[in-house]
Amino acid sequence: MIYLDNHATTRVAPEVLAAMLPYFTEEYGNAASVNHAFGWRAAEVVERAREQVARLLSCPAEWIVFTSGATEANNLAIKGGLSGTALAAGRTRARKTTPAASAVPLTNFVTNAAEHPSVLDVAKRFKRQGVGVTILPVDHHACVDPQQIADAITPQTQLVSVMLANNEVGTINPLAEIGRICRERGVLLHCDAVQAIGKITVDLQQLPVDLLSLSAHKFHGPKGVGALVVRRDGPRIPLEPLFDGGGHEQHLRSGTLPVPLIVGFGVACELATDQYDGKLGGLTSPARLADLRDRLWQRLQSELERLSLNGPPLSERLPNNLNFSVAGVDGEALMSSLKEIAVSSGSACSTAEPEPSHVLRAMGVSDSLSRASLRFGLSRFTTEAEIDVAVAEVVRVVRRLQA
Ligand code: PMP
Repeated sequence: MIYLDNHATTRVAPEVLAAMLPYFTEEYGNAASVNHAFGWRAAEVVERAREQVARLLSCPAEWIVFTSGATEANNLAIKGGLSGTALAAGRTRARKTTPAASAVPLTNFVTNAAEHPSVLDVAKRFKRQGVGVTILPVDHHACVDPQQIADAITPQTQLVSVMLANNEVGTINPLAEIGRICRERGVLLHCDAVQAIGKITVDLQQLPVDLLSLSAHKFHGPKGVGALVVRRDGPRIPLEPLFDGGGHEQHLRSGTLPVPLIVGFGVACELATDQYDGKLGGLTSPARLADLRDRLWQRLQSELERLSLNGPPLSERLPNNLNFSVAGVDGEALMSSLKEIAVSSGSACSTAEPEPSHVLRAMGVSDSLSRASLRFGLSRFTTEAEIDVAVAEVVRVVRRLQA
């Protein structure tokens, strides 16, 4: 089977696996063990990985907080950010006003309808708990309008969360402009950059975001590790940890560090950095991904009828994403007939739910076209021959179902 579902997860790069292996076998020290060389060596490689992550993002290593992945990083940013800012605001008001006034929660969270469930479900939980939440609509390309963000920010708003790139249709949001608005208004901005890493440059010297989430398994690192990047070159960002415990990761994420996973994460970041610097050669470049993806779409369009592209024009989205609907076929029959290729309909993270994709729905795609949609995610391991097999398979299945 040909794997073309790289938005869901990616293959671990051989260099990543090789770097991790010794940390499962001989070098199994706890990075928090300060009394012996096993611990010192573990701490040393964790710090090296922190540098590798930081180099990829052009930020200092102290900004990196290792987590179990992006679901945790998103929860830490939003829940931790909101309770941290509410506590800080409460303390300020307590000094200035009466105790009764300081007990009123001063919180509002602004996000949008195309976010990953690890952001949207936090927003929904807040709503149930009585926290002010604004979930903005997106346009027919799943793009967030900066003006709508500006209009939604109130004096109560503490935090805005907007993803850099969408995991279903590859939309790249105007984060620079959204960041500028948030800074002007004194509101924190969190960004889920999971799908962007390794595909487009993410440079924290340029990108005005305060908190940024990433996950190793989306760019050829291992599953179960990621990071929240916490900007530290401005006013202190008040973040409350989700877990209490040993006080690891600057007291923001207690728990023994998964040293082998962190080592692999670091190497995956180094490979992504080398790819931008051209050190890995043309075969791994984002431009090559875009060429393969464009070839896939052109050939499908020339062979089949009634295909509609979901999301922005190909030149404006992530280079490895293609998402389209096939009119006149049953979505379930389409997915179950594709035996030779691993692709996804909607987001793999929500396939437990039979509901059509919330992103396509937010873009205004009908439920029946949503169900008959296919998402392709290419990776640096995808070959031209695989694209040709994928075209032949989709053409064969769609022709049969449309007949
Ligand atoms: N955000 C986005 C945009 C994602 O695509 C995913 C993974 N599907 C996540 C967050 C969650 O990442 P993780 O698997 O590391 O929890």
